[in-house]
Amino acid sequence: MREIFMDYANATPVDERVFEAMKPFFLEKYGNPSSHIIKVGNEAVRALDDSRKTVANFIKALPEEITFCASATEANNLALKGIAFSNSYKGNHIIVSNIEHFSITSPVTTLANKFGFQTSFIDVDNDGFVDSTQLKKTLKTETKLVSIQLANNEIGVIQNIKELVKIVKSYNEKIIFHTDATAAAGLLQIDVNDLGVDLLTFSATSLYGPKGAAALYVKNGVFLQPLIEGGFQEKGLRSGTENMPAIVGFAKACELASVEMAERVEHLKKLRDKLQKGLEEKIDFLHFTGSLKNRLPNNLSFWIEFAEGESLLLMLNYMGVMVSSGSACSSNLRARDEDELVASPVLKAIGVPSDICTGSLTFSLGVKNTEEEVDYVLEIFPGIVQRLWQMSPFYLDKIKGHTPKMTKVDK
Ligand code: PMP
Repeated sequence: MREIFMDYANATPVDERVFEAMKPFFLEKYGNPSSHIIKVGNEAVRALDDSRKTVANFIKALPEEITFCASATEANNLALKGIAFSNSYKGNHIIVSNIEHFSITSPVTTLANKFGFQTSFIDVDNDGFVDSTQLKKTLKTETKLVSIQLANNEIGVIQNIKELVKIVKSYNEKIIFHTDATAAAGLLQIDVNDLGVDLLTFSATSLYGPKGAAALYVKNGVFLQPLIEGGFQEKGLRSGTENMPAIVGFAKACELASVEMAERVEHLKKLRDKLQKGLEEKIDFLHFTGSLKNRLPNNLSFWIEFAEGESLLLMLNYMGVMVSSGSACSSNLRARDEDELVASPVLKAIGVPSDICTGSLTFSLGVKNTEEEVDYVLEIFPGIVQRLWQMSPFYLDKIKGHTPKMTKVDK
């Protein structure tokens, strides 16, 4: 049975070189950086300092501007609640876009419902770009924080953060701008100074690094209220003994991504373009989601009329191809809400019609994918779609008088 993984937006395998760099920190170099007077602690402190420099360098920040966290979710919570609860900034209004990850929208909802913050959600257009005119109009004296993602994990759209920062800062330079760069890290060059942001989240998991390590960039001079208090690690901003193997692995992953990014991106784009062209040629009623121009180089997302995203996902999985779906089930929405399939908030935000769309598919490719794997997907996918269409009375109705591209019906 083949195993083809095309869901790199949700997980990346740890690079063997990253794994090798981490190993000694489990077995031999097990010290706690806080016990820096003894030998193993001193080794740990030096490794922590070196890792911080490498991770900072990856986004062109200074080492003291990096706070290590356990996940992008934690870093996003620290950014939002840390500013919301900080006394250094006035105001009680927070702006985010309509297509943020749950690790942004959930804390923002809590800040609104439990702590009385005002929140505004900015629309995106059909291509997935934030409406900058609406952002301009939404800014007000009470605005304390704006958080807009650098790229979307589901539809891959890359926002013009530099431009959005300019809009916010020209209204009031004291408003703090945070960007969630989790989906973009490793696929786009990130320069925090060029972007002009105050806070930025990224994690090792999208970089062929380990789970359990992420960073929040906090620009010098920006003050956050800590959420986890204790032994004053990370300058008191995030207490708790540092996860040294994960941090060392994160740094190694950043180092490798810096050197190899251009080569990786070229490979990913070539495969993604081949997949896109093949799908366009072979499948009718297929709609790509998000801008096809300004998107992550490894992302291809789409929905197909009369075919449920979740069913496509399961049938692909049965054939050995692992992707992800923007439908409710795979994004945990079903557990939270009602027991029915609904399109993802991102699809709703970009105006995908909910009556004929029950979920999209996202292919996010990675360095280990090959052209031959893309060929395999293109070979099996039309049959899968055809099979689902045959079960759909709406499809049979629609094709009356229309010759679909796939005329051969697989029985
Ligand atoms: N932000 C974005 C854009 C993401 O795609 C994800 C998930 N990969 C997260 C935040 C949260 O990451 P994690 O679950 O690793 O904390």
